Amino acid sequence: MEQINASIITIGDELLIGQTIDTNSAFIGQQLNHIGIWVKRRVAVGDVYEDIWKALDEEKEDARLIILTGGLGPTADDITKPLLCDYFHTRLVRNEAVLAHIHELFINVYKRKAALSPQNIRQADLPETCEVLHNAHGSASGMWFETKNKNGEKVVVISLPGVPYEMKKIFSEEALPKIAAAFKSDVVLHKVLSTFGMGESSVAEKIAAIESSLPAHIKLAYLPGYGMVKLRLTGRGSNREDLEKQLSAFYHQIHSMLKDIAIAENDDTLEIIIGQLLQKQKKKLATAESCTGGYVAHLITSVPKSSAHFNGAAVTYNNEAKEQVLNVSHETLETEGAVSESTARQMVAGALDRFAADYAVATTGIMGPPSEHDEKPVGTVWIAAGNKEKIVTKQLHLGFDRERNVQTTAVQALNLLRQFIIANDVK
Ligand code: AMP
Ligand code: MG
Repeated sequence: MEQINASIITIGDELLIGQTIDTNSAFIGQQLNHIGIWVKRRVAVGDVYEDIWKALDEEKEDARLIILTGGLGPTADDITKPLLCDYFHTRLVRNEAVLAHIHELFINVYKRKAALSPQNIRQADLPETCEVLHNAHGSASGMWFETKNKNGEKVVVISLPGVPYEMKKIFSEEALPKIAAAFKSDVVLHKVLSTFGMGESSVAEKIAAIESSLPAHIKLAYLPGYGMVKLRLTGRGSNREDLEKQLSAFYHQIHSMLKDIAIAENDDTLEIIIGQLLQKQKKKLATAESCTGGYVAHLITSVPKSSAHFNGAAVTYNNEAKEQVLNVSHETLETEGAVSESTARQMVAGALDRFAADYAVATTGIMGPPSEHDEKPVGTVWIAAGNKEKIVTKQLHLGFDRERNVQTTAVQALNLLRQFIIANDVK
């Protein structure tokens, strides 16, 4: 089966000046990937007639499917519709069904009293040769055009509004089923393994032999993050079952070589994994944070339903707070300092107590930039995790800027906690 290439063209000056982040392309890319269509290129252009035209001309050379988003509003800066009329040598005609839908929207949904403005009505004027893609949530319809490339092959051009909510609805419900029916493409499958604690090149070295034995239709990608490297195997083929088997075999080979550092057989984050572990054990967590300023708690609580396993957080930034809130001893702070193993341990013990938690994790360190008050070199960090019976600690020496030091400390602390929970799984 052939590979179908797609291009995404996003339209809008706001995308070019960084005022709006292009989330539409990411969504469309993910959706097309599921049905085996490869997004070969993404192009962003301003609200400029010639630029949009040129992008269409260029993308038509390589792509059998072109998806445009943006520029469909009723205002003068939105020029996609008249441009598409010119591009496909057609004219605007009033679509009565769309007009009825706009009426319905304005009266029943938006509760407008006034009559439709000429601008609103013009939203029902659509290119004669396109197939209209219904926009249940807005007045700008999607459009489906068919043309041919220079080899005489069918090229589909789809134009969608820029508003993400409307775009997603039209794309998923109207466009995607038609795309799947119009193009029979290869199956594309992914398998992801998340690893922690080893750099990208060291991971690559460990699995070099497997990597070089991969057939051409199976590719391996390294996706590094803070402290983590995700490995993604992507396979392409005509038979789903065969491909699944092949992909699985390579996946297990890689997994067995990376057993020590594998933390998830998918791309779950540490906070998701920890949430699952805690919920399985029906245990509760608390955090005691100094240098991460609540960031560990933020990560934990960014997972839906985390209230089931998270009791609370103490952000104790100065010594008094560490003493008063977490009961860290005055003497320890005086003799060993706030950034010390003992302080980290006592922070864990204090949080377990304060929040009546089963597990707690603590961070204390110097994040930079250097200042004359620093008690230890920038990048010195102690993290600790434990329960009532036992506390484990680890010292880090980080050399990044403040933001990255905070993020790295948080993921290291979460990983220490993850290891502790697994090692001390007492019911
Ligand atoms: P438009 O269809 O050009 O009138 O776009 C309407 C609104 O959708 C814009 O104001 C943007 O906020 C948003 N938007 C347009 N394009 C994108 C995109 N590629 N990603 C996310 N939001 C977008
Ligand atoms: Mg626009």
